[in-house]
Amino acid sequence: MNEARVGLVIEDDQDIRELVRAVLTQAGFDVSVAASGTEGVLAARSLNPDVITLDLGLPDIDGFEVSRQIREFSDAYIVMLTARAEELDTLIGLESGADDYLTKPFRPRELRARIAAMMRRPRSGPDQVEDAPALEQPGDPGTGHYTHNGLDLTYASRSVTVDGEELNLTRTEFELLYALLEAGRTVRTKSDLVRRLRDEDYDVGSYISEADERSVEVHMGNLRKKLGDSPQRPRWLQTVRGVGYRLAPAER
Ligand code: CA
Repeated sequence: MNEARVGLVIEDDQDIRELVRAVLTQAGFDVSVAASGTEGVLAARSLNPDVITLDLGLPDIDGFEVSRQIREFSDAYIVMLTARAEELDTLIGLESGADDYLTKPFRPRELRARIAAMMRRPRSGPDQVEDAPALEQPGDPGTGHYTHNGLDLTYASRSVTVDGEELNLTRTEFELLYALLEAGRTVRTKSDLVRRLRDEDYDVGSYISEADERSVEVHMGNLRKKLGDSPQRPRWLQTVRGVGYRLAPAER
């Protein structure tokens, strides 16, 4: 048996807190709860959770700030729960380091599906990096190891280096980068990438909203910042206006 995965619910509304706790418990998590932002950051530090659900409107510090603080030490999958369907809030939430969002009221099975998709991905961290299997041939497709313009990505250890320097990416950022490296010069549309993050096939016909597509733009912006990549003269992430993204050409 694997050790139980740890979930943390940061939410001041007791009804919602108990609902989310029940959803995560059913999904097999050991769940802790926190009713304020400060308590939530402390709990995240001591519990090292795999998944965090984060309310935006907390009594002390808001969810954006909580997310920023947690991101300084944790790569947990953070789902923001927002009371309003306001796109602006959602996008600021993602800029502050959250992976995904759901607007209240949400369907428990939707939360379960999002978490299940993300948990299928490997997690980074010093332990996992040390335990990584021997590297495959650099750049050999299909092995989960890619090199491109000084960037080196290994899926198994979930590690990324740029010019030899290790980068700290969230699961979402890592997955997006991996999707582009995998596709090479083929354009990945924003809705492709949303489905990729939700672990859905291309043809399931699920509805992808404009806000979902905008969320990919925000994650790409965060990724670009961490890579130190330029939108005008990209080394890696090339925007194809109105469509999506693809890998920038190889440097000569
Ligand atoms: Ca609240």
